[in-house]
Amino acid sequence: MLEMKNVYKKYKNGVTATNGIDVKIDQGEFVYIVGPSGAGKSTFIKMMYREEKPTSGTITLNGIDMGSLKNSKVPLIRRNIGVVFQDFKLLPKLNVYENVAYTLEVIEENPKNIKKKVMDTLDLVGLKHKVRMFPDELSGGEQQRVSIARSIVNQPKLVIADEPTGNLDPDTSWEIMNIFEEINTRGTTVIMATHNKTIVNTIKHRVIAIESGRIVRDEQRGDYGYEI
Ligand code: ADP
Ligand code: ADP
Repeated sequence: MLEMKNVYKKYKNGVTATNGIDVKIDQGEFVYIVGPSGAGKSTFIKMMYREEKPTSGTITLNGIDMGSLKNSKVPLIRRNIGVVFQDFKLLPKLNVYENVAYTLEVIEENPKNIKKKVMDTLDLVGLKHKVRMFPDELSGGEQQRVSIARSIVNQPKLVIADEPTGNLDPDTSWEIMNIFEEINTRGTTVIMATHNKTIVNTIKHRVIAIESGRIVRDEQRGDYGYEI
């Protein structure tokens, strides 16, 4: 589903964040992206959903060239990609229901389908009972559940998560991982940057390690491989 060929990303300040990346990820895979801070993990991930463009090389997602994609086509492509962040990025003035429904309203989903889709998704993440609450009334783990619900409510083929458990305590992190496992079991590709050694070494998946903008290791059922 995703292929990168010789992908370089040099930011305007002269920093080279990815330094020749070649990778293929198939539909249905669960992939951890690991490596030290500043290695280029976030840049690698941002290029997958066209938050950043490569300086050179090609990125194809389901046959579409992400680098040369017109800006006007980006929202259309993003419909098939859910993104989850470390800091949740919920809309503070909208309640739980509205935060999740917003994804569907943006893509002009038939209003008749919205309520069922939102409630089914909130059920999946275990938050059906808190639909009327606002983000600041929720714990961090609950906010991340809302954020995951928002990212999957339109049933994307790919979910990208950048350190989704980075702000959560260990117990809550495991609960959040269980949700990602369930999403993956249903056939969705999951690509997750993480520093959580215990999780990577326990829930085994493909591990891609990045250092200085290059892939230095790519193993099925790999280990985290760093001390922290
Ligand atoms: P990681 O996610 O592994 O910490 P990043 O992709 O965030 O790595 O960063 C890789 C390198 O690119 C770092 O040196 C970082 O400072 C730099 N970088 C990241 N984003 C930008 C940006 N928007 N502008 C300039 N440099 C950036
Ligand atoms: P956790 O132990 O997961 O960090 P918290 O101690 O923050 O959770 O919250 C425990 C419960 O109290 C959660 O179910 C959360 O929804 C609820 N809660 C937390 N803060 C508020 C608030 N300001 N208003 C209403 N409910 C809250």
